[in-house]
This record gives sequence, structure tokens and C-alpha cells, in this order.
Amino acid sequence: MGILSGKVVIVTGGTRGIGYAMARCFTDEGADLAFIYRSSVEKAKSVEEELGAKGVKVKGYQSDVADFNGIASTVSRILADFGRIDVLVNNAGITRDGLTFRLSEEAWDDVIDTNLKSAFNCIHACAPVMLRQRSGCILSVSSIVGLGGNAGQGNYAASKAGLIGLTKSVAKELASRGIRANLIAPGFIRTEMTDKVGEEQMAQWCKDIPLQRAGTPEEVAKAALFLISDNASYITGQVLTIDGGRSM
Ligand code: NDP
Repeated sequence: MGILSGKVVIVTGGTRGIGYAMARCFTDEGADLAFIYRSSVEKAKSVEEELGAKGVKVKGYQSDVADFNGIASTVSRILADFGRIDVLVNNAGITRDGLTFRLSEEAWDDVIDTNLKSAFNCIHACAPVMLRQRSGCILSVSSIVGLGGNAGQGNYAASKAGLIGLTKSVAKELASRGIRANLIAPGFIRTEMTDKVGEEQMAQWCKDIPLQRAGTPEEVAKAALFLISDNASYITGQVLTIDGGRSM
């Protein structure tokens, strides 16, 4: 028996990086897992096989989180397949960096739609199910960039700051019905997203981190596990930074 036994968890962006680490961590704790991804069909199959071997139900759904109607029908399929939805983790995200005054409209829209509108889409589809159950939990993956901004990431920072406003509003709207909503704000975590940054730049970033290193996806997953579990039953509307002390 794990602390998520009997719970159905949806993770968006479960094929790689932080989402994949969460998928592993949550299924270790007994969760049944529905994960959403955009393009990694082969990886999704291997995640289903690897995590399903633990004796929990695991299924991947190829669906663009930025597509309102697509996500509504994907969540309906998940509900039909799993019977309930206890936890929604809004994790899928992208970067398209550039100085704000040089960003194309497309780079702005892509990042806002994938990182922020996606959470609206998923909450819009999942909250009615949680309301009927009179229980549920939402966790959105923001970033320390959403708290403090970052030169060259105006679109990304706006999307991650927007997630904080959205998730806190939802926490206030749904608390009386037994539904919690929180955020995590990771700092510099080694994944394919940050692998684009050169080693020299990474070393420079690590100098500004009190713990002197990048975080791992597994460390983020453990903090997420706490917030979605009943161990955090009196915590809602909060942002937990996971950044080695970078933003203190
Ligand atoms: P990765 O690039 O490693 O993985 C992104 C995941 O999101 C993939 O599973 C990808 O699916 C999925 N995804 C991307 N776009 C879509 C879409 N339109 N529809 C459905 N799924 C999509 O990212 P990370 O693991 O690094 O980041 C995860 C989250 O954590 C993001 O929100 C990111 O902003 C946030 N974060 C990351 C930090 C870091 O340092 N890495 C720091 C702070 C926050 P597919 O494989 O099919 O493309």
C-alpha cells in the first residue's frame, strides 16, 4: 500500500523530464496513472509497459494540452477508462526564448497556449468530475521564472506567473468542495528542456544556487508527491519553490 493507492492521477507531459519522474514516483506510491503527451509515441508505450508492470493501471493519451476541445474529449476518455479523477498535475510546458521585443507573435502564443491555456483546459475538464466526487487535488508546475522574471523568457515568465494567478483563483473557488490546488516552482532542473543550455552557462547558473547544483526531476517529484497526497490535506493555494535556495 502506497500513499496514493486507489487514487487516479493525471499528469500532463508524462513522457519526459519532470513529468516522467512524477509518473514513476506516483506509481511507486500505488497511483493509477493517466498521462498526456504530444509527440513521443514510442516513449509513451515504454512508459505504459514499465510503470504498468508495478501492478497499477497506466495509460498514455496523445493529446495537445493547448487544444480546448481535444483535452475535453481526452479527459472524457480518461474518466471512461479509469472511473474517477483524484489528481490533476498541469506539468506539460515548453520554452521558446528570445528578448521580448524580438519575440514573434507565434512564439508568444505557443508558449502561453502550451503552458497556461493548457492548465485552464485541463482544469475546465477535470474540475466538474472532482466537484461531483466532492474531492480532488490540482497541482500546477510553475517556475521561479514566474516569480522573478528572466531576461529572454518574457513569454515563459508570463505563462508561469499566469499559472500562479489561475491556480490560486481555482483554490479559492473549489476549497469549500474539498478540492485543493497548489503549485510548485522549480528552479534549475536537469531535463531535455535545460539540456539546450550549454555546460558553461549551466556552471554559471550553479554558482548562484546556494546548494551549488542543479536539481533532479526526482527531487521535484518528491515535493509534488507531498502536495498531492493527504499529508498536505490542510495546504491549498500555495507555491512551493524547489530551487536549491536560488530565490531566497
Ligand atoms: P521536457 O521538455 O523534458 O518535457 C516536456 C513534456 O511536456 C513532454 O512529456 C512533452 O511531451 C510534454 N508536452 C510539451 N508540449 C505539449 C503539448 N502541447 N501537449 C501535450 N504534452 C506536451 O520538460 P521538463 O520536464 O523540463 O519540464 C516540465 C515542466 O516543468 C514544464 O512546465 C516546465 O516549464 C517546468 N519547469 C522546468 C524546469 C527545468 O529546469 N527543467 C524549471 C522550472 C519549471 P512529448 O514528449 O510528447 O513532446
